[in-house]
Amino acid sequence: MSRYWNSLVSKLEPYVPGEQPRVQNLIKLNTNEHPYGPSPKVLAAIAAQTNDSLRLYPDPTALELREAIAGRFGLTAAQVFVGNGSDEVLGHAFHALLKHDAPILFPDITYSFYPVYCGLYEIAYKAVPLDENFKIRVQDYLPEGQARAGGIIFPNPNAPTGIAQPLEQIERVIAGNPDIVVVVDEAYVDFGAQTAAGLIARYPNLLVVHTMSKAYSLAGLRVGFALGHPDLIQGLDRVKNSFNSYPLDRLALAGAQAAVLDQTYFEQARDAVVRSRDALTADLQRLGFEVLPSAANFVFARHPAHSGEALASALRARNILVRHFKHGRISNHLRITIGTDAQCNQLVIACREILK
Ligand code: PMP
Repeated sequence: MSRYWNSLVSKLEPYVPGEQPRVQNLIKLNTNEHPYGPSPKVLAAIAAQTNDSLRLYPDPTALELREAIAGRFGLTAAQVFVGNGSDEVLGHAFHALLKHDAPILFPDITYSFYPVYCGLYEIAYKAVPLDENFKIRVQDYLPEGQARAGGIIFPNPNAPTGIAQPLEQIERVIAGNPDIVVVVDEAYVDFGAQTAAGLIARYPNLLVVHTMSKAYSLAGLRVGFALGHPDLIQGLDRVKNSFNSYPLDRLALAGAQAAVLDQTYFEQARDAVVRSRDALTADLQRLGFEVLPSAANFVFARHPAHSGEALASALRARNILVRHFKHGRISNHLRITIGTDAQCNQLVIACREILK
């Protein structure tokens, strides 16, 4: 606290990112990074740009990258916005498209950055409880008989549960709310859910947000993007160009573009994670864990006989880092990122020891 802070800064409750410790030989399964490196073509593209051209500003419109992304989704560049990680893209979406008079809606158990943006941009919100199986109830997001919402945002698959919502249910939310923007945060969609990008042509109120941090293995490069009607994209551009015209540097633009164009590598690396996830799920279930069905690159699991906090610290004592959230209904769950098969095996061995 400082007397130099304004009243808004004094009352902010900032997001707390997962730990990035500098401990040797740590098995780091706490921030949903990809266990394998990015495509060699990404590294080559970044190396090729590491030269005197770094004295020049990058393309503020990121046109080539937006064209590459558009090509992947059968869209045009005018339907694509890129930003410095999807966190920045989401921040701009809150600011440009979700900030209206009425409270916005998102699930009570979801990405914990959403209420933080609401604090920063002074947006009222209502956290809508997931059902007893940690699933989103579509009817809770339909306007019938309810006060008008200022906007809707939810991840698909949801985080930290990993549970995917079928596309037709997502379409009901979008179609049922034509006067407000519905943001579908698809950070983990490539690991097993269906993207809503194909609905963009029919719904001008839909914004789909993706990250290159997860399935593209580029968390360190900070690239995210949004897909939607050109009017929504222009709204994001207006905020971006009132804040930072060059959110993506030359190396990020080159690396991200190479990643998008190397779909073969992307699919191979992604499929390896999905296989490991299914194997880890079965292993944890054999140890008595209840594991929610995951369509993401992590599993969300609890053991009926052990507290989440105790398990997380016992794993930490064995140099294995997983994510534990201290709040409410999920305080006994652990969110475990899918590592390499060797890392997953070490996790299972450690759990077996701890549960003995
Ligand atoms: N959305 C969700 C649901 C996430 O879990 C994350 C990762 N913490 C993000 C968005 C942001 O990812 P990034 O900023 O790395 O693109």
